[in-house]
Amino acid sequence: PLQAGIVGLPNVGKSTLFNAITKAGAEAANYPFCTIDPNVGVVEVPDARLGKLAEIVHPKKIVPTAFEFVDIAGLVKGASQGEGLGNRFLGHIREVDAIVHVVRCFENGDITHVSGSVDPLRDIETIELELILADLESVQKRLDRAKKNMKSGDKKYKVEADALERLAAVMEEGKPGRSVELSDDEQQVLKDLHLLTTKPILYVANVGEDEAADSSANPHVQAVRERAATENAQVVVVSAQLEAEIAELEGEDRDAFLADLGLSEAGLDKLIRSAYELLGLRTYFTAGEPEVRAWTIRAGTKAPQAAGVIHSDFERGFIRAEVVGYEDLIQAGSYNVAREHGKVRLEGKDYVVADGDVMHFRFNV
Ligand code: GDP
Repeated sequence: PLQAGIVGLPNVGKSTLFNAITKAGAEAANYPFCTIDPNVGVVEVPDARLGKLAEIVHPKKIVPTAFEFVDIAGLVKGASQGEGLGNRFLGHIREVDAIVHVVRCFENGDITHVSGSVDPLRDIETIELELILADLESVQKRLDRAKKNMKSGDKKYKVEADALERLAAVMEEGKPGRSVELSDDEQQVLKDLHLLTTKPILYVANVGEDEAADSSANPHVQAVRERAATENAQVVVVSAQLEAEIAELEGEDRDAFLADLGLSEAGLDKLIRSAYELLGLRTYFTAGEPEVRAWTIRAGTKAPQAAGVIHSDFERGFIRAEVVGYEDLIQAGSYNVAREHGKVRLEGKDYVVADGDVMHFRFNV
């Protein structure tokens, strides 16, 4: 599964947030293919459509799709020069698909900030600079090699060198790789560099408990929002402390607690949805009597590969898929009525699965 890595300076609330994530965690039995690692938290992606489908299908169980957060603690100033530890943390970031950067926006005299005061913009820049420096090193090494290889006359090295030069130029100005527009070809060529600052990013503004519902009076949050807007990044406001408490509760108790706080949903759920969007993920459903279930795919995935998320045999032996859109199925009120109305389509191997498709795969074993 796809993973988002949680980074941030010490004492900003990363472990508190990660604990909330593991506490709210998914039931492991439903997700045998998820990573088992104390630094990985598996969460279920909330989706109201599952309940609606269940009203039609009356399944034995409902299984949401899952998503993984990785706790990448220990990123500090100087990490990019770090021989041992620092470098290892950067290595962990290389492996994730997206970055969740937690910044401290809560004031609390009892909890010391590593740099002496609360200033999320400075924190963002501190972490980002480490990531940029690490990237710049990889880019320069690769650029030297590409230039040598260009002498062979092979055009692909020219493409590579051009892209690397543009990246190096912005990184030297202290800007992240994501500010460079790369073509699909260029992205493909540079994929194995695993650059840190080209990964999609979202910021978590960690606020005090009393600001979770309304943080408009918090100037730090405002500053983070402005900064994020300049790089098309999202900001999710949470109070990590409060999320840890919310994660202890379930069902009606949880709803009552959220209502009391004036929250329409848990900050964690907001974070999960934002991370899902950040990665360009889509959901399709399978709906039968044993279970109604959500599955995650990347936007643009075709039917056989979507089937492969369930089982590799489904992809290998794919024949075709029966597809009905979520809205069509809900409107019809039952699978049979949807079929009578001609809303159930047969799709082949080139069909691009849409968000909300309810799929039934036919395959050879
Ligand atoms: P980490 O070093 O980034 O993992 O930070 P921690 O999660 O250990 O948090 C550092 C300190 O800040 C701990 O004492 C937390 O209890 C406190 N803290 C974290 N989140 C919040 C919050 O939302 N509100 C308040 N008041 N304190 C928090």
